[in-house]
Amino acid sequence: MPYRKTQAIVLSRSDYRDNDSILTLFSPDDGRVDVLCRGCRKPRSPLMNAAELFTMGEFVLFSGKGHEAVHACTVIESFYPLRLDYTRLRHAALMASACLKTIQPGESMGHLYILLARSLKRLAYEELDPEVVTTAFLLHFVTLSGFKPRLNHCSRCGKRMGEEGGFLLAQEDGICCLSCGKDAPKRSWLSKEQLQWLRLVLALGLDKMEEHPAVPPVEMLKQYTEAKLESGLRGF
Ligand SMILES: [Zn+2]
Repeated sequence: MPYRKTQAIVLSRSDYRDNDSILTLFSPDDGRVDVLCRGCRKPRSPLMNAAELFTMGEFVLFSGKGHEAVHACTVIESFYPLRLDYTRLRHAALMASACLKTIQPGESMGHLYILLARSLKRLAYEELDPEVVTTAFLLHFVTLSGFKPRLNHCSRCGKRMGEEGGFLLAQEDGICCLSCGKDAPKRSWLSKEQLQWLRLVLALGLDKMEEHPAVPPVEMLKQYTEAKLESGLRGF
């Protein structure tokens, strides 16, 4: 079958020849799909919107000689407001960069796709602070990637962590109590409120949380994620 149809989000694009682009699509069923998008940089090209970063659409792909190419696309969601706000765009780029590190061709990753789609929606259309959206995204992202941090007990001594803060350490797979984390860098310290916020995000999800009084900085979860993936993330 030379044609196939898939829903996907555009995670990256690079210019190719005079008027074409190479897109990396994230498909929930097929994982990473690299495709040629012919003529999309020409004015009035019907594929112009399909080739925008973060566009979510129904793509019809054609595999002829060489590259698989975009034959048509119905845009489901353009997340247009992201393009008008540099801060939100940076947050979206960080999420895309994390997904690009883990998706594989032919590998279904439906849960991650839903997480990305929801997070982009929140960034583009909701009043939420982008720090809230991206920190929660990264926490769910590492969890889906098999690196869920331990947040209820100290990773070294096993003590239950209730009414206290702790150090978030990638090498310990989670939280360390104050006395076990004596040598830990100060920047990895989470207050008890920040720690509780992370637990609530994992237990309830952002939709069921009304207030966000203490959100750990994106940078902290970014470092945790980078250590677990053994690779740097872009866009931040
Ligand atoms: Zn301890």
